[in-house]
Amino acid sequence: MTGECNSQCRYCFGEAVDDFEADSSGSEVDYCLPKTMNYDVDLLAGFCAHDPECVLTFYGGEPLLCVEEIKEIMDGVKAKGFMIQTNGLLLDRLEPRYVNRFHTILVSIDGDEELTDFYRGEGTFKKVIENLRLIKRNGFMGELIARMTVMEQTDIFKQVTWLLGNDEFQFSSVHWQLNAGFWNDFARRDFKNWSEESYNPGIKKLVKFWVDHMESDGIVLKLYPILGVTQSLLGGEKKSPLRCGGGWINYAIQTDGHIIICPTMWGMKDYYLGHIRDSDPLKLKRVFVGEPCTTCDIYGTCGGRCLYVNITKRWNDEAYSLVCATVRNLVDAVTEEIPRIRALVRKGGLSMEDLEYAKYNGCEIIP
Ligand code: SF4
Ligand code: SF4
Repeated sequence: MTGECNSQCRYCFGEAVDDFEADSSGSEVDYCLPKTMNYDVDLLAGFCAHDPECVLTFYGGEPLLCVEEIKEIMDGVKAKGFMIQTNGLLLDRLEPRYVNRFHTILVSIDGDEELTDFYRGEGTFKKVIENLRLIKRNGFMGELIARMTVMEQTDIFKQVTWLLGNDEFQFSSVHWQLNAGFWNDFARRDFKNWSEESYNPGIKKLVKFWVDHMESDGIVLKLYPILGVTQSLLGGEKKSPLRCGGGWINYAIQTDGHIIICPTMWGMKDYYLGHIRDSDPLKLKRVFVGEPCTTCDIYGTCGGRCLYVNITKRWNDEAYSLVCATVRNLVDAVTEEIPRIRALVRKGGLSMEDLEYAKYNGCEIIP
């Protein structure tokens, strides 16, 4: 919808300000994209009409800066479903008759008030929670996913469990992504210490907590990274394609109507895959990750984590191996718990259907 945003978060705006050496892996970049969509909604309607499974996700920047355009699209395009990824600050600006049509809302929140406001600016947490309570009161019944960005100040176990059970607002779905590999920032980060001493042990604890909860309450909490990996390992999936769907089942449409692999590749002309005016959504080129993922021993389970990072390689091999170590840690932690999960299935306390989740809904699975 737009590249503009009404927040100045540390891991996005803050990083962009510090990232003087921004490169795009040699790709020519179009820095003059329109601020908001400049194509006719009928073009989008025609494009979507080719795909009976078309689901549109509103994305930015902050998509709710474009409330009128969102309404125009929801009124004018016949899609199977609509979703939104938002920072939540402007959710009160969109009337309930539109909000209640979203089958999923991913709202950016990093955990409790102190941490969320540290990353996202003072007052963010209170406003977002106020808006979430409002949309619930107004009848929103879809899936609401807390979408965390995590980095060195995050205690992953503490913050995820806080989001699940607290007095302010309880989420039943949580997803998180590591701020790792997206900027030229490794040298000024403390990623090695944090990932090895805090994040990786926290994930092990979280996986155990997740299975404990299944055993005690018979409920599968929708912790997307754990759920996604568990389903693959239990179901014996040999090879998962990139789990966010970017470049093969999920595509992004720029404000000028060009189709790209994913919103992070905004303006990178070498990766334009067509234009909505004359492309068929079912025949778009598919783009997959390359080395080092393709020869990695856990590629089948990981799926490659992130195409953008794989292409731009902003962290060198040594730095990125720490990110891969977090993936390995997650896979190992789940693998260790598989016998306990299988035992639950055997005893009838859990079925494979309980582990189902909506795929490619903006949760990348591998953080
Ligand atoms: S663990 Fe790392 S190298 Fe292996 S597939 Fe995942 S991102 Fe690629
Ligand atoms: S994980 Fe997927 S959607 Fe996210 S930035 Fe990477 S390629 Fe894009």
